[in-house]
Amino acid sequence: MRMGLAANALHHDHDDAALFRWLRACGQGIRELDLHLHAVGRTHAAIERSDCLASYSGLLRYPYGREGGLMKLVAEVVGMHAPQRTLDGAIYLIDPVDPSSIFPEAVALKRQCVIHQKPFISTVASARDWVEMERLQAGLAPDPGANELHALEQQTIALIAHDAMKPQMMAYAADHFDVLARFARRVATGTTGQQLNELAWSRGWPQGENWVERYQSGPMGGDAQIADLVLERRCQRAIFFEDPHVARQHEADIQLLERAVTTVTDDAVCMTSPRVAARWADAARKRAAQL
Ligand code: PGA
Repeated sequence: MRMGLAANALHHDHDDAALFRWLRACGQGIRELDLHLHAVGRTHAAIERSDCLASYSGLLRYPYGREGGLMKLVAEVVGMHAPQRTLDGAIYLIDPVDPSSIFPEAVALKRQCVIHQKPFISTVASARDWVEMERLQAGLAPDPGANELHALEQQTIALIAHDAMKPQMMAYAADHFDVLARFARRVATGTTGQQLNELAWSRGWPQGENWVERYQSGPMGGDAQIADLVLERRCQRAIFFEDPHVARQHEADIQLLERAVTTVTDDAVCMTSPRVAARWADAARKRAAQL
């Protein structure tokens, strides 16, 4: 597997920065998976300077950001003709107050991951969660270091889908009802939440009792309300099926929620596509069966 890798300056400028917290937690998993990391210049240099991934041949160097490194990752998420120039997704550890995190190439990196249904991983918790998910999918035993991250019974999950993606959200919730039901609490934006509650009632959830707690509709501020839960560490996961093909009246609110997730990088996991979320639910089931 090949993943693009970049981290904003704050996330690689000291020993205990986010990039290194991830590499220390997942170095072994990265080697077990033979995960190739296509790292842009400064991120690559920071890893080389550290003792993380020492003598690991899967770490590849890309140009510096100012020389187009991040832009190349975008093209390779879309896919270039040579197979070694097609990435399976991108890990971009975002510092929300770093101006480069909203450069067009940064926004395009996420957007093309969403369009091509590849993982876009912007937080330490998401990156740790993803490595464990891929380990489980590869048939490896659960990593006890990831137990806390996977204690779904103690977590809140947010479920949000733009209009064109609502049928996919309902299909997802129907297919993975058992996994979503494990959470202590489910929250959603207004319309998504209404449809999810109707789905739950049709499956025998007590009538009149909400399966998900509904906030305002997205355009009316629901994303901002859920962002506040994330910032207060009262929501640990978000599954957000965005529609990348339309102009969105509440674009700022959508970005706000994504920036809230990166503000609490060790504590919030965000998944942006049905394919990735399904792969995760499947892995969560495998993990529970093995403990
Ligand atoms: P909705 O909001 O669930 O109320 O439709 C989702 C959104 O558009 O952000």
